[in-house]
Amino acid sequence: MSDTHTGGCQCGAVRYRLSGSIPPAYACHCGECKKQSASAFSMSIPMAYEVLTVTGTAKVFETTAHSGKRKYNYFCGDCGTRLWHSGTNPPSAITLKVGTLDHSEYIAPVGHLWVSKKQAGIMLDPETDQHQTQPDNVSAWRNNLGQ
Ligand SMILES: [Zn+2]
Ligand SMILES: [Zn+2]
Repeated sequence: MSDTHTGGCQCGAVRYRLSGSIPPAYACHCGECKKQSASAFSMSIPMAYEVLTVTGTAKVFETTAHSGKRKYNYFCGDCGTRLWHSGTNPPSAITLKVGTLDHSEYIAPVGHLWVSKKQAGIMLDPETDQHQTQPDNVSAWRNNLGQ
């Protein structure tokens, strides 16, 4: 039996249902993540897009990741909430934005990227995996979170 988790954007135009358990989350404190979250850092969960059942249509715009790869940023065209990122369009492997889950309060990040850019006053659990910038192979790092 698997858990079911739900989430969506702030206005509800894009909703999703996630089947299975929630993989480990990480936080990123870089300048891009401050912009996309309009806050101190982003929290994301790497997963396969196929575990989501999505209603509504996310818009997408393209940026360049720190790695130099193309990144596709999916968001609600009505309210602007960022939903997930992927290296492909349509999405395949994604990083889901934790704050879009209806119930995310129990999710603690197990790793932190770009701690050198961390907002003043934000304290990190010293037991977590922390990087001043990011590992050379950030995809591999993401996929090994919590192991
Ligand atoms: Zn919306
Ligand atoms: Zn970032």
